[in-house]
Amino acid sequence: MALAELQEWTQQNGYPKFRAKQIYTFFNKNQRIDIENSNLSKDIIEAVGSDLDIAEIECEFSSKLDSTKKYLFKLNDGNLVEGVLMKYKHGYSQCISTQVGCRMGCVFCASTKAGLIRNLAPAEMLRQVYSVENKLGIRVSNIILMGSGEPLDNYENVIKFLKIFHSEEGHNMSYRNMTISTCGVVDRIYDLAKENLPITLAISLHSPNDETRSKVLPINRKYNLDKLIEACKYYSEETKSRITFEYTLISGENSSLSDAEELFDLLKGLKYHINLIPLNSIEEYQKGRPSIEEIEKFKSKLISYGAEVTVRRELGKDISASCGQLRRKYEGGINEVCS
Ligand code: SAH
Repeated sequence: MALAELQEWTQQNGYPKFRAKQIYTFFNKNQRIDIENSNLSKDIIEAVGSDLDIAEIECEFSSKLDSTKKYLFKLNDGNLVEGVLMKYKHGYSQCISTQVGCRMGCVFCASTKAGLIRNLAPAEMLRQVYSVENKLGIRVSNIILMGSGEPLDNYENVIKFLKIFHSEEGHNMSYRNMTISTCGVVDRIYDLAKENLPITLAISLHSPNDETRSKVLPINRKYNLDKLIEACKYYSEETKSRITFEYTLISGENSSLSDAEELFDLLKGLKYHINLIPLNSIEEYQKGRPSIEEIEKFKSKLISYGAEVTVRRELGKDISASCGQLRRKYEGGINEVCS
């Protein structure tokens, strides 16, 4: 619950108002869930109950190649979601899941292969960060909503999570350090712009034309590129921020130099940054990634036009640190995943 909701709850149940802040601080600032050990009164402890939305670490995998860690979190109902913690010079960045599974159907994404199971509650998103911070004794400085799920398909809960996380008695993180990644749920991009929170928006673009994009991202059949780009312009202007475009490079699909040219033309007039992601092949999508030389050529072409481009560093390559791959292995009964 947001603090205001908790205050309403305490009032409705006849508890003093200050209790709301105590409960909020206990779960958020103090990052605890053992309410029975708190100094709250017995009747409040009983009223809150023990049936909490949680996401506790089921197992942790540490990359041997870099300091990336990958997590499987177990939810109260036994469902699993995954997350990644990456260490950068400027601090820790954590990738958060927003749904169990996903219904967007992007062809190369492992998270969506078994469809959507359910939305995550705000507390289940909060606990992904809190449990990692507690375990490692660290403080995360950036969060990116790029784990399993489509954040804008779980809009209300995601916004509530971010507001709690931002609040002073929550995690006190600036909205500028939060990134929402979406495959392009256009109506919700407008809603997000109207929230007037300067959250960084990342768009999974993956193609500069409707023909290829509709093959790879089914959402494009509902909201085509014209509509998506228009929404991005609106978002960028309203929040005075630049948009990140994620572009997964798939060999023979979207990685030619004419694709680079078309991409540059498509984004004209926008303030943006392009993040190129070499495809991680999954069992269900057997296409490959271009060679390092081809990736460099694609990047250089865009840079020669004046675009700002980076190639996503591959962190945690040895621990399946890519959307939904780990959970699928685990649920597929590969026991050694957690050993
Ligand atoms: N649903 C959101 C966030 C989750 S996916 C979205 O679509 O943006 C995070 C990013 O990883 C997206 O850009 C997604 O398209 C990309 N991605 C998913 N599976 C991938 C794979 N196998 N290889 C490369 N990129 C992948």
